[in-house]
Parts: sequence; C-alpha cells; structure tokens
Amino acid sequence: MTEQGSIGQAEWLDRYDAAYMQNFGSPKRVLVRGEGCRVWDVEGREYLDLLAGIAVNSLGHAHPDIVAAISDQIATVAHISNLFTSPWQVELSERLDALATANAPGIPARVFLCNSGSEANDTGFKLTRRTGRTRIVAMEGSFHGRTLGAVSLTSKAAYREPFEPLPGGVVFVPYGDEAALAEAVDDETAAVVLETIQGESGIIVAPDDFLRAARRITDEHGALLWIDEVQTGIARTGQWLSYLPSGVTPDVVTLAKGLGAGIPIGACIAVGPAADLLGPGSHGSTFGGNPLASRAGLTVLDVIERDGLLEHVRAVGEHLAAAVLALGHPDIVEVTGAGLLRGIVLARDIAPAVADRALEAGFLINAPRPNRLRIAPPLIITAAEVDSFVAALPTLLEG
Ligand code: PMP
Repeated sequence: MTEQGSIGQAEWLDRYDAAYMQNFGSPKRVLVRGEGCRVWDVEGREYLDLLAGIAVNSLGHAHPDIVAAISDQIATVAHISNLFTSPWQVELSERLDALATANAPGIPARVFLCNSGSEANDTGFKLTRRTGRTRIVAMEGSFHGRTLGAVSLTSKAAYREPFEPLPGGVVFVPYGDEAALAEAVDDETAAVVLETIQGESGIIVAPDDFLRAARRITDEHGALLWIDEVQTGIARTGQWLSYLPSGVTPDVVTLAKGLGAGIPIGACIAVGPAADLLGPGSHGSTFGGNPLASRAGLTVLDVIERDGLLEHVRAVGEHLAAAVLALGHPDIVEVTGAGLLRGIVLARDIAPAVADRALEAGFLINAPRPNRLRIAPPLIITAAEVDSFVAALPTLLEG
C-alpha cells in the first residue's frame, strides 16, 4: 500500500477518478483520520464534522467504546454466516424488537439484520409482497435507497427513470397530505411507506398528526404501515425512534446508518402478524447480523443509554436551532428538523456554495437542496463545537 503522506490530495483524486465508478462525481477531500467530532485530510487540514458520514458516525470517530468492542470482537469471532447465530446477534435482535414496540410493549416483533438502509428497505419491500397485495403508497420527496427495490420507492425521477423497468405497484402522494393518503390507500394496498423527516429532500418534517392519520388509514384497509427510520432512528432526533412520541406502532421499521457507528449494518423489524410474513428460505444475507456488526449495534445502544445521549441530542439540537435563528441573518429563513438532524432553510439558492465555503473554512456540512443546508453531526457533539460553526455561518453565507 502507498505510504500515507507520500503523495498529496491531487494525486489521490486522480487515482480515484481513474479507478472508481463516476457515480459520486469527484470527492471533495481525501480523509485519513478522525477523532471525536473532528476529521483530518491527507494534507493535515482539520475539519469539524457536522455531517457524521451522513448521519452514520453517531458516536463520532474512533470512539473508545467502539474501538474496544470492535477490537475485542474481531479478535474473538467476526463472522460465522447465517447457518449459525451468536449471542450478540440474539441480544441485538431482542433490543431492536423492544425499541420498535416501545409504544405497545408485549406485541411480538422479529428483526432481519442486513448491511445497509437500501437492503433493509428491500427486505421491507419483499415482506409487503407476502401480504398477497402488491400496491404500495409512498411519498413525494421520499428517499429509500438505490437498490432496484429501494429506488422504486424513491420519488425522484432522476434516480428512478434511468433504471426502469423497476419493481412495480408503487404510487406517490404528497408528503404530509392526510386527505391524499386517505384517497390513495384502498383494500388492494399492501403498505404505506414513509419517513418521519425526509432527510435527503432537505429535512422536511411531516405535520404532527400525519403519522397517526397514516396508522388509522392503513388500519382501515388492512394495509401495513412501514416507517423508514434509516436516517432518523437510533437517537438522531433525540428519540430512540423518531415515531415514538406520536404513540403509533408501525408494522415495519427499517434502520441502518447510526446503528453501527460506522460498521455497516441495516435492520428491518416487523411487528405483530407482519413478523411472520418472511418464512424459511424467503430471504437472506451472507454478512447480515454477523458478530462484528451486531456487537457494534449493541455497543451503540449501550453508549447512548449510559451517556444519556437522547437528552443530550435534544438539548444540543435545540441550542443549535436557537443559535442559528438568533443570528437574525437575512439569508436564514428557518431551521427545520429535530434533535441533531437539522435543515437550515436559506432565502436564496446558495446552499451548495455555502457548503463549499464551509469546507474551505474547516466545517463538513452538505446541501441536499439548492436552498437548504443539512447539519447531522455526531450525537456526542458539544454546544461549544456547535457554537464554533454558528459563529462562522454569517461569513459563510456572505461568501
Ligand atoms: N432510507 C433513508 C431515509 C435514507 O436516508 C437512506 C440513505 N440516505 C437510505 C434509506 C439508504 O440507505 P443506504 O445508503 O445505507 O442504502
């Protein structure tokens, strides 16, 4: 392997451009190290990571508990295939089933563990096909992933159309529109799938009553309610799962991103009768739920609990929103989202340029829309770290 530091960023990027598929375009930096909420590039520049690998590095970088648990696990047993199970897989499964049913304790639930959000959603999709119905109602503005199954639930034409024909039967309704949902769901509908906050669309929050309405409407027609918590789940919004405050219990919950703190993991949890829809031989994954990934998931859940991160995320998230608004800057219209999943809505379509200037100034953020910035830092970020970004924001906006 090339000795690190022996070549600069430009040369790494040239090699990337030649060797890697062009689907992501050119990366903005070559990163080599992380610690807490900071990362460093190959030329030694330091950044405050306000994106956490897009809501993945929930405990920041090189968290001592993750380092210890993963090192111990890899020295013990990392992978065994799904012909076998492990104590870590069993315990993580129990913990996730309990979280998904926290509003209705005692209802049976079962999980399938996989490796990404798309895979978790493909599992959910296959499960809905086993209801005997094939129609799915999804939301305009949705993002559920890039595999053929997940992209067929994703509304953006540019992601879908080049890959048609996609798995069929999916219709889209305006997000948060209860009347449109009631109109679209019928007795042929297998499932309604939605995010509580649309992350990739720019941190768009569903109206308060929408989840309860979706539960009522799906119940009326015997359809499944499926909530995609891939971006919002596991403390990101200051709740274990972002739907819990609504009081609803969905039939299907999908998770990934922050659950593994950087180790790839996904989960599809099915509740009640839906838990038995995928029978023997119907689905599988070589890596899914292996001891290494399961141990990572268990460690994340333990650290969130031990360190009171749910409360911390709520407090720092509110501090962030209040501090950004208190700038009173004419370009800042609104702060959306919850906990540490926040959108800064701008009065002009300058978000990509602001994100580029932020990078130059040592802050990692992104622009999911021309007029929206996304902030999704590690859940361990401090108010002081947030303040350093807020202090820089007026300069970043002005260019
Ligand atoms: N669902 C949601 C809500 C997401 O935000 C994402 C990723 N941004 C996915 C699914 C897909 O996850 P992955 O990239 O791990 O396949």
